[in-house]
Amino acid sequence: MSKRDYYEVLGVNRDASEDEIKKAYRRLAMKYHPDRNPDNPKAEEHFKEAKEAYEVLSDPNKRAAYDRYGHAGVDPSAAAAGGYSSYSSFAEAFGDIFSDIFGAGAGRPGGRAGVYRGADLRYNLEITLEQAAHGTETKIRIPTTETCDTCNGSGAKPGTQPKTCPTCDGHGQVRLQQGFFSIQQTCPRCHGIGKFIPDPCNTCHGAGRVKTHKTLSVKIPAGVDEGDRIRLAGEGEPGINGGPPGDLYVQLHIKPHPIFRRDHDDLHCEMPISFVTAALGGEIEIPTLDGSAKIRIPPETQSGKVFRLRGKGIKGVRSNVHGDLYCHVVVETPVNLTEKQKALLREFEALTQDNSERHNPRAKSWMNRVREFFSA
Ligand SMILES: [Zn+2]
Ligand SMILES: [Zn+2]
Repeated sequence: MSKRDYYEVLGVNRDASEDEIKKAYRRLAMKYHPDRNPDNPKAEEHFKEAKEAYEVLSDPNKRAAYDRYGHAGVDPSAAAAGGYSSYSSFAEAFGDIFSDIFGAGAGRPGGRAGVYRGADLRYNLEITLEQAAHGTETKIRIPTTETCDTCNGSGAKPGTQPKTCPTCDGHGQVRLQQGFFSIQQTCPRCHGIGKFIPDPCNTCHGAGRVKTHKTLSVKIPAGVDEGDRIRLAGEGEPGINGGPPGDLYVQLHIKPHPIFRRDHDDLHCEMPISFVTAALGGEIEIPTLDGSAKIRIPPETQSGKVFRLRGKGIKGVRSNVHGDLYCHVVVETPVNLTEKQKALLREFEALTQDNSERHNPRAKSWMNRVREFFSA
């Protein structure tokens, strides 16, 4: 399930203002509205995609969560990976760590109240095709939270203590009578922690943790492809109250290459040659990912011919052999000709005209077919 980046969907920069986001969405909504595109089934998909992106990016909380965690931060279907329970609550998570995010299903059954595994994080990393082919090691700087030094993580102002929650008497749960039923609910005051902080720490405002950055080294193995993920175990959000940390997933994106286009383990490139080389043949030096190689162009090579260089592709991270490099010949029509060059070409044309069946068989047979078509 690869999802497009929301900013990409709306075609705005990551620092776009609310206004820009709104305008971009309006434009797309007008363009792809299903009522305006009855014959284009793709339009509805685009419309839904834009709507989803707008719903997240127009909401400051959701946008913040998305900026930090990517789709995992706002996507209900990704919830299982992070161990958090619901979409809106995850978005709120880091404004208020005591919120419901660590509610049902997230905790360790039978564990102490409030002990939870930290959330998984995602980091988008762009690398070049060369780095993907050969592997690399790079450093990334990621936002993280660490225990607040001022209060040592208690969230209470130094010299004060968190107090037992009077609403639930420290149980974290309250019973509500609804008609005949008695319903157990998470305590609305302490959100299940069983304690509240009467005097919050000034540094972390009661969260017990502060935002900071950490630098990590990421080893990228040779042969990775677009969308591959590297898992850095334990580098996600720290756990709560002694719970284990989450993992960090580095999502790889390959930058477009000026020469090569990748198709799994194979590479493709365009190889423009002059019409003289195409006619007479010659040797062409072409780049590969490991230095250059030579291709013998045989005489009478046509545009569109493909030369395969075995093993000059990429050795995929899950493959045993290298892919191939395919060079697609494009015969280039000369431009910016001088009078003398033009004269020579006219002379050349006159010489080939006499026997065009022999020199330009394709053009000749095409002309014949055209003639038949019009006379029929
Ligand atoms: Zn603090
Ligand atoms: Zn309570």
